[in-house]
Amino acid sequence: MEFDVAVVGGGINGTGIAREAAYRGFRTLLLEKDDIAQATSSQSTKMIHGGIRYLETWDFHLVHESLRERWTLLKIAPHLVKPFQIVIPVYKGSVRRPWMIRLGTLIYDLLAVGRNIGRSRRLRSEEVQAIPGLKKDGLLAAIAYPDAQVFDARLCLETALSAQEVGAVVLNYHPVERVTLENGHYRLQGTHLRTGAPYNFSAKSVVNATGPWTPIFERLTPGHPTKEMVYDRGIHLVVPSLGITEGLALMTGDKRLIFVLPWQEHYTLIGTTESKFEGEDFSSVPYSEEEVSYLLDKFNAFFPERNLTRGEVLYVYSGVRTLIAGHESSLTRLSREAEINLMPDQGGTAWMNVYGGKLTSYRRLAEQAINKLARHVTPSGPAPPRFTASTPLYGGRELVDIPPDKNPAFLTPELRDAWRGRYGSNWAELVDLALAQPKLQEMLLQRFQYTLADLAYMVTVELAFRLEDLTFRRTKMIYGLTENETRKLSQALEQFLKGQDWDSLYGEAAS
Ligand SMILES: Cc1cc2nc3c(=O)[nH]c(=O)nc-3n(C[C@H](O)[C@H](O)[C@H](O)COP(=O)(O)OP(=O)(O)OC[C@H]3O[C@@H](n4cnc5c(N)ncnc54)[C@H](O)[C@@H]3O)c2cc1C
Repeated sequence: MEFDVAVVGGGINGTGIAREAAYRGFRTLLLEKDDIAQATSSQSTKMIHGGIRYLETWDFHLVHESLRERWTLLKIAPHLVKPFQIVIPVYKGSVRRPWMIRLGTLIYDLLAVGRNIGRSRRLRSEEVQAIPGLKKDGLLAAIAYPDAQVFDARLCLETALSAQEVGAVVLNYHPVERVTLENGHYRLQGTHLRTGAPYNFSAKSVVNATGPWTPIFERLTPGHPTKEMVYDRGIHLVVPSLGITEGLALMTGDKRLIFVLPWQEHYTLIGTTESKFEGEDFSSVPYSEEEVSYLLDKFNAFFPERNLTRGEVLYVYSGVRTLIAGHESSLTRLSREAEINLMPDQGGTAWMNVYGGKLTSYRRLAEQAINKLARHVTPSGPAPPRFTASTPLYGGRELVDIPPDKNPAFLTPELRDAWRGRYGSNWAELVDLALAQPKLQEMLLQRFQYTLADLAYMVTVELAFRLEDLTFRRTKMIYGLTENETRKLSQALEQFLKGQDWDSLYGEAAS
């Protein structure tokens, strides 16, 4: 079969474009070399936001568009995107005065008009007092504005599964190693990492959505000009919950914003840093202890009594933003606007490079990419955008409950809540699975309410293959797993995979 659109890269841009293409009726293929969201798209600050600080660089268009998309994502993925409030404390001596911050948040409100999720406001003094440990000395004002938080890796995964639901072929662990242009179509070749078998696909158009790998991927291909990229590394710390229930945006002396965010009930997230990255291994971007100390120092300057230490940090993750090189001297001032380049090749084929972007605006970027590409794929021109803004993502449909009299004995209230939180509207599929195969009711990790049914579902439905697929991208167990728990999970995964016939699961699409 020849695909209309082959998307390479299973980050948020690639999965979003695959979903959009599939919804417009194109025969769509998505190839990811590792796991879905293994790179930048699981290393973010996890905010679905307009980006209040982009107001300072006059990126009003970016902020406006992102705020509209924030509204859309809250509707189509309510189980993954949750509204929350961010508070900016303003101290004596800050270059940004309280009135400037207030003005900024008012503009932010205005840019969201018609699709806002609340209003910005100045906090009352008792509300400020209630923020545990925040330095009150010299505090002039605290201004709050609404935004939203997301489980980034699952947003990406569920976007891919949503594309699959409407006919796209979605294959992770399929690195594209070679692309040639032959007789009016592209041939994409590589090796399926699960089976070791070579694969070979043909497509009318290719979308290079490999994020930071864009120039590297171009080296394997028929040769298209790429833009000069700059890689901006950002790290985050995960620490046990500091009791903060709202997000905080801390204005540091070096004109940056550091976010301190409640995360997954039991944790607090602190980030991010900004430093130029010059390597090529974007799968595991290294970080330095200086960067960790920088975040701890900045945090402790605002929470002096808390005195957070390195020993309390449970997890550090690091990723790179891919920015288009410009004339600005500082990384912070380079634009976050995405760019899409379409390059028609011979015989009606078309190649597209995608640069930059945000999790927040990925759906809109995908719509624009497919608008551009569609006239090359179909002679009649682009089909109108349909449904991706109004159709719920994979688990984003209405939550349906099981009547109490039909509640199976194994389904404790704790497990029910864990499944609803993890899988949204698909949680009942886990119940069916565990009823059909009672062995799967076995609790594997009590602390995380993680059963054999979770493992089976993540492997067979959610495309998981390696341990980190389960612990970092489909759940956040990685922050708290003990050695024993890791061993137990790893053995169960190995056992489960042994019983799987990969050819029957994945062989058909790859032949
Ligand atoms: C520190 C940091 C914080 C951020 N915070 C936010 C935030 O709070 N909110 C927000 O909206 N945005 C945020 N962003 C931006 C957002 O995370 C990125 O814009 C987005 O994740 C980029 O997605 P992508 O699909 O372009 O790239 P990636 O997620 O990196 O995906 C590219 C994929 O291509 C695959 N690939 C590469 N080569 C091949 C090949 N040959 N064959 C097959 N597959 C291949 C890779 O394995 C990878 O999975 C943040 C970014 C960073 C770095």
